[in-house]
Order: sequence, then C-alpha cells, then structure tokens
Amino acid sequence: MINTYEYARELDHQDPLAGYRNEFYVSGNKIYLDGNSLGLLSKRAEQSLLGMIEAWKEHGIDGWTTGERPWFYLSENLGNQVAPIVGADEGEVIVTGSTTVNLHQLTATFYQPNGRRTKILADELNFPSDIYALQSQLKLKGFDPATHLIQVKSNDGHTLNEEHIISAMTDEIALIVLPGILYRSGQILNMELLTKEAHMRGIPIGFDLCHSIGSIPHSLTSWDVDFAFWCHYKHLNGGPGATAGLYVNKKHFGKQPGLAGWFSSNKEKQFDMEHELNAAADSGAYQIGTPNIFSMAPIIGSLSMFNEIGMEKIREKSLKLTGYLMELITTELDGHGFIVRNPLDEERRGGHVFLEHPEAPRICKALKADGVIPDFRAPNGIRLAPVALYNSFEEVWQTVQILKTIMDEEKYKQFENKRGVVA
Ligand SMILES: *Cc1c(COP(=O)(O)O)cnc(C)c1O
Repeated sequence: MINTYEYARELDHQDPLAGYRNEFYVSGNKIYLDGNSLGLLSKRAEQSLLGMIEAWKEHGIDGWTTGERPWFYLSENLGNQVAPIVGADEGEVIVTGSTTVNLHQLTATFYQPNGRRTKILADELNFPSDIYALQSQLKLKGFDPATHLIQVKSNDGHTLNEEHIISAMTDEIALIVLPGILYRSGQILNMELLTKEAHMRGIPIGFDLCHSIGSIPHSLTSWDVDFAFWCHYKHLNGGPGATAGLYVNKKHFGKQPGLAGWFSSNKEKQFDMEHELNAAADSGAYQIGTPNIFSMAPIIGSLSMFNEIGMEKIREKSLKLTGYLMELITTELDGHGFIVRNPLDEERRGGHVFLEHPEAPRICKALKADGVIPDFRAPNGIRLAPVALYNSFEEVWQTVQILKTIMDEEKYKQFENKRGVVA
C-alpha cells in the first residue's frame, strides 16, 4: 500500500505546506534532493535581491541610511528575523561573515586558555573547515593542535555518543565546539544536555548549526548555549555564498571581539572614526567589516517563509519526508546493498537520509543522469535531503523507483566509480 504512487499522491494532498513548492524555482524534470548543500532559489528571495539592486540604482551611497532597508542596519535587522528560527532573543543574532570566519571570530573571543585549561574539545566527525579553524586558533595562541585539539572519537564512524563527549570534558578543556547536526550521518546532538554538562564543569560551549538551521527547531537561549554559528545557503535557501550568521548569548554581551573591525562598533559611534573601538553592546560586536549586502538580500525573502510557517511545522513535514523515504528504501531496495547510516529515531535524525554503498560514486552519477540530484560524500556516502518547503512525497516515491531501476538494471555500471571535483 505505501509503495504505490497513489499513496504518495495522497500524502501530498494532505500536506499543509504543499503550496510552498510553487514559491520556488523547481525544475520540472529534475528531482532536487541537495537542499542541505545548496537550497533552491525562491521567488521571494529573488525579489528581495532585485529590490536591493534597485536601492543601489536609486540611492547610491545614501542606500546605507535610506530606502526600504538601509544597509547600515541590515545585519542587525536580519539577525532579529533569524532569531526565532534558532530560539534567540533580540540582539543575540547577527547576520555576518561566513561560517568559517564566524568560527574564527567566536574562537578568538571565547577561547581564553588559562592555567591548566588550554585545550579545545571537538569531535572527529566534524566538517574539515571547522577543524582547520580550531587548529589555526590554537597555533595563534602558541599551542600544538596535535596535543591541544581533542577530537572525541566515534564508535561506528558515523555517530557520536554524548556520554563520550561528556567524559572528555576535563579540567584541561578551555572551549568546546561541536556540530548541532553531523553533516554526514545527519545525527542530532543533544545540545541542551551537552551545554548543561559543559557549564557544570565551567567550560564555554558553542555549536555549528550549518546542517540544523532551517531543518530542526532550536532553543539556543533557553538551552543557555554560549555561542553558535551557521551558513544561510543550505536549508535556509539564501543563495550560494550567502552571508552567514552567529549567535552570542546575551549574558556575554560586552565581551570584546577577538577579531575587531570598524563594524564591531557601537553604531552611534562608528563614524566618529576614533582609534579606540567602542564595541556594540550586543552580538553586533562580532562583525568585522562592511557587510556583503547582495549576499544578504536573498535571505530577507527566504526568511519570510520560515517565519510565516514556523520551524515546528517545517520539522513535522521534514520528518514525514525522511521517514517515508527510509520506509521505501527498506521495502523497495532490499538486497541491493544499501545501508542506512543516519539515526532512525526521530529525536536523533536531522533533515537528510545518509546511505552507504560501495558503488556510491557511480550510483550518484546514474541518479543525476536520470534527473535526481543527490549529494555524494566520499568515499561511499549518498545524502538525500527531501526538503519540507519544496520537495513532494511524489518526488520521494519517484526517486526510490529510479534508484530501484538503476540497481535492478545495473545502470550505474556505465559510469566510473570516482568522484568529481565538487562533491
Ligand atoms: C557547510 C559547512 C561549512 C561551510 O563553511 P563556509 O565557511 O560557509 O564555507 C562549515 N561547517 C559545516 C559543519 C558545514 O556543514
């Protein structure tokens, strides 16, 4: 019954968010399942970008202070619109920088080695850029990353165990940085628990929300997280290289930015051009230079949808989509050698399904040739992200049918089992 096309159609009929698909540029002959790497363009995001270009055309330099959305205050204003999505209060979120630059900023601010506490705690499954940033911050403070970057091990190569992380929170740890959702397996870490345990041991803790923002709800402030950072181009659909975001808990307001620039200023004082920084009293202090207005503009339109719907409803549909996809994989692709590596449990699984298969590189190529856009992760992972705002249950059904044909007919054998440059 659940394997039928009619059942998929019925799920779409019952879906309260189905109408949002029309808000996006979805290609009629492609099934896009890569929204966790680069979300699709929406008409609202396009409009907000075009509006910003008009503002430049019309106002020139005065666009900084006039027009519908004066650029000088855009990072702060947008930050307050992102705040409900991560469960933050006014002034705690700023839209600025890139994920990696924001991690540098926050580490430069919160990593203050003192006495025995000199090490940074991370994990061995995190995204390389985060690890490189932490290694370079350690070196800047004169420590050897080989001894001072502690990376919690994974037992199965895919997931982390919170108990292991907690037992690594020793009195030598000065800072903890972990992902909210692991980028490969899609495992959700229990951010509330980890924060509580870190604070019991006097350690500040921050999270990388690249894969969790726009995918699951967060309550950063009520969990008492110290800081967080993320990109807006994955689930948030802000466009390639969209300006990123960061959160600093208001109990830390007043802490001087580790990496200062003139946009760290109190906005009233910025144009006094003094050589002594008077930093903003909120998370605005962690900006560095002039904001990339056109890389922020699409976020305005995109966010309006998230705030209109609310993260709870988006999460509800996302769970249904990934649950349905896993069910079809189990029933339709049995015996074809796929292993589902994401946590199955709803409390633990994020917005994508992670499959392992020894032939993954060329299965991904075969999927692309047949119009399905997956996301390959070396050496043998396939991430499939059916996104609540623009994917349908029918597309999930079709994807599994296409994959079944590729496997039944061994169509993947026409391709080389190697990855491309961007994968
Ligand atoms: C996508 C991603 C990044 C990318 O960082 P950029 O600075 O935007 O290039 C970093 N960390 C994680 C966990 C990611 O998923």
